[in-house]
Amino acid sequence: MPELKHAGDEPPSPAEKTLFKRYEISYLLGYGAFAKVYYARDAHNKEHVAIKVINKQKIIKGGLTANVKREISIMRQLRHPNIVRLREVLANKKKIYFVLEYARGGELFAKVAKSRFSEHLSRRYFQQLISVVGYCHSRGVFHRDLKLENLLLDEKWKLKVTDFGLSAVTNQIRNDGLLHTVCGTPAYVAPEILLKNGYDGAKVDIWSCGIILFALNSGYLPFNDSNLMVMYRKILTGEFRIPQWTSPELKRLLSRLLDTNPVTRITVDEILKDPWFKIGYEEVEFHHDYLELKDNRSDTSSSTGDELKPYLKAMNAFDIITFSSGYDLSGLFDDREDRERFLSQDSPEKIIETVVAVAEGVGLTVVVKKEWCVKVVGGYKCNFEMVVEVKRLTDELVVVEVRVRESEVETGNRMWKDKVKPGLSGLVYETGPAG
Ligand code: AMP
Repeated sequence: MPELKHAGDEPPSPAEKTLFKRYEISYLLGYGAFAKVYYARDAHNKEHVAIKVINKQKIIKGGLTANVKREISIMRQLRHPNIVRLREVLANKKKIYFVLEYARGGELFAKVAKSRFSEHLSRRYFQQLISVVGYCHSRGVFHRDLKLENLLLDEKWKLKVTDFGLSAVTNQIRNDGLLHTVCGTPAYVAPEILLKNGYDGAKVDIWSCGIILFALNSGYLPFNDSNLMVMYRKILTGEFRIPQWTSPELKRLLSRLLDTNPVTRITVDEILKDPWFKIGYEEVEFHHDYLELKDNRSDTSSSTGDELKPYLKAMNAFDIITFSSGYDLSGLFDDREDRERFLSQDSPEKIIETVVAVAEGVGLTVVVKKEWCVKVVGGYKCNFEMVVEVKRLTDELVVVEVRVRESEVETGNRMWKDKVKPGLSGLVYETGPAG
């Protein structure tokens, strides 16, 4: 078994202790190939979350922006009780933050590293894993990097698969050499990947599930050797020894999962019918609310096929902010007193008309009004001044920037915050957590 990773005790920098005035960061949970993961609490509802922090520069330098964008939109829509839920994606100038459901029970890896599981327990986790894999495959999503380290547990010891959708990105970062020092063990790699003749994502995931089931039952990995070439040879020839305590039914299933020929390797449908697998298996009920997305973006062009269209439609504003080029939106998260920006799906005309109506309603006077911009003044000696500017971001979204000036800052802030801003709330494009 490879060495167990330990969560370090590195504290977050003081500036990062509360993210976006919402997430109170406590301590480092662990780190993966391209990210640090912190434990945090949502100040709004006191929920526990895990926040995965990624350095934006690494993504941009690696030319991976499009991949990340796609993977996020997929991951946001995967809803399965055994998949770590991606609640929200946030970003500032330097970093991207994935706000994830918190898996309190830690890594399954840590549990099995202590002692191997009984067949009964191995089956329980394997059933949950196959339920996830079947769910994702039927939606055209493949993990491609399933391994024990990606299997977490919640407080009730229920399986939570993480990194579904992000793994392709992780792999590419590794290949890019940016993070060569953390190159993972190839012990889970399917033979067809080593042969480099192209591969089927579904078959590769099944192979990895076989490695995981083997490891749960035996406490070690089937193909492991300090010499990489020897390990590769063992994988290619399917050279592994099933421990003697294994039942004949499980032995049979393991040899079907770890079939070096992807064509004859067992499929998810066949696994579901397997006598060893079937014992006590309860099918999971899924939420199908991903089909009822409010967001009706028409741009679903992608090479991923029809299956993924609902997911791709779900690109939310944060994703756009994170990855828009040519227009620095990082300021959206600045806390400057004199400037606020929000996203809207309304037309510039409607936005300007609303601003005018609200401003006049609270006794302000319009001094400049253009198609995309309006300036209003008011108060004693016209000390209060507000400029609202609309900028197009995408076909459906605009950014509304509000600049407020007043010689007496407090009065000005009150005018904006208490009187004008509430009147504009109907224009704001609500992103909110994906829940
Ligand atoms: P990753 O980058 O996904 O490999 O995460 C690195 C480590 O952080 C994992 O091995 C876990 O120990 C921890 N971790 C990641 N995501 C979560 C989560 N949602 N809940 C709890 N711990 C997590």
